[in-house]
Amino acid sequence: MRIECIAVGSELLSTGRLDTNSVWITERLGRLGLSIHRKTAIGDEPGDLRALFLEAIQRSELVICTGGLGPTFDDLTKETWAEVFGAELVEDPQVRRDILDFYAARNRVPPESNFKQALVPVGARILRNPFGTAPALYWESPQGYPGRRVILLPGVPLEMKQIWEGQIEALLAPLAQASVHTLRMVVGSVPESTLDERTRALREQHGALEWTILAGISHVELVARGADPALLEAARKGFEGELGEDLVCVGEGSIESTVLDLLQARGETLGLAESVTGGFIATRLVAVPGASQAFLGDVVTYSARAKVQLAGVPERVIQVHGTVSEATTRAMAEGIRDRLGATWGLATTGNAGPSQDAQGPAAVGTIHIALAGPAGTQTIQYSLPGFRSDIQSRAAAWAMDFLRRRLV
Ligand code: AMP
Ligand code: MG
Repeated sequence: MRIECIAVGSELLSTGRLDTNSVWITERLGRLGLSIHRKTAIGDEPGDLRALFLEAIQRSELVICTGGLGPTFDDLTKETWAEVFGAELVEDPQVRRDILDFYAARNRVPPESNFKQALVPVGARILRNPFGTAPALYWESPQGYPGRRVILLPGVPLEMKQIWEGQIEALLAPLAQASVHTLRMVVGSVPESTLDERTRALREQHGALEWTILAGISHVELVARGADPALLEAARKGFEGELGEDLVCVGEGSIESTVLDLLQARGETLGLAESVTGGFIATRLVAVPGASQAFLGDVVTYSARAKVQLAGVPERVIQVHGTVSEATTRAMAEGIRDRLGATWGLATTGNAGPSQDAQGPAAVGTIHIALAGPAGTQTIQYSLPGFRSDIQSRAAAWAMDFLRRRLV
């Protein structure tokens, strides 16, 4: 079933107001196993509204609008839909009474403009608004559009939610579909395009599922959706085989939670010496509840002096090789492992930019990662693209992933 959501209101196009209604509606539809295929935020300009409504009613079986039902001249959602359906607006006596009661309860008399809200397109069903003066409206198979449904909801979030819970949910219940299941796979240190190519055949093989690749700074997610859990399970097995150790986890996890789980399962500990990542790795680890089981601590050794004094790097190593170098990073990892008595010592150095000179001779994006462990020290060097914060975030993720690969 094709569903679209339209948020009406010029204020939603500036920076002042966020369209939170459509997010809320999407969540509520999800509970019914329904998902939206398109959402739009649009200003109150009548010509634009009319064009959009005409498109929407043709391409979607259910159109849900919020906003534009207010008493002021610029609220035109209802009027425009009435025009689309060729329906006359007629005052509804019950809505007029509701408006009078709403004001009477506040010891006030409604201004005449408020009765604009009592005008209802002929053929629309009225859903009374217990918290405001604009009723919601509902059409099933409106004139000229058999099989279509249209819902107009007030923009005020509280009013919209009350009407949804009290009246819309029951209207949509017959449309509920078997809930959609999701398979989420997190992939570490693999560029999005590489992952796309590598998994194309497998995705085609599991073409009955709906696939998405979500690229992030620190990892890539492969997401499959489908109604049949058995199909998702078969896909999971196929991808586990194809991705091997590139697959970080399946389900809700992250690189950091996976690293911590692996360390804990092995009864091992981790110490960090971070330079270019400036504490980003530690920040992500401590965001995971229970991190203290395996994570001992971090020194942010941003200067040469700190590398020497806090991570135990021999001065000579920095003098000969420079701060952004394999040798210095290796010495940091070994130094912190030794000082904390950790199973693993993980260290980063690099140049996150934007300028090359201030950071020494290493090119912008150069990252060194070193991991000291029971069987010796391994290092890796990357050249990462992006802005300063991208480089730092990705370096933090890829350093954790370097450790994860050693642990699996
Ligand atoms: P309206 O029904 O267009 O008069 O909207 C009334 C008020 O509801 C607006 O001033 C906004 O504060 C709020 N509102 C309207 N649309 C939305 C939306 N999509 N998300 C969140 N708030 C909204
Ligand atoms: Mg408005």
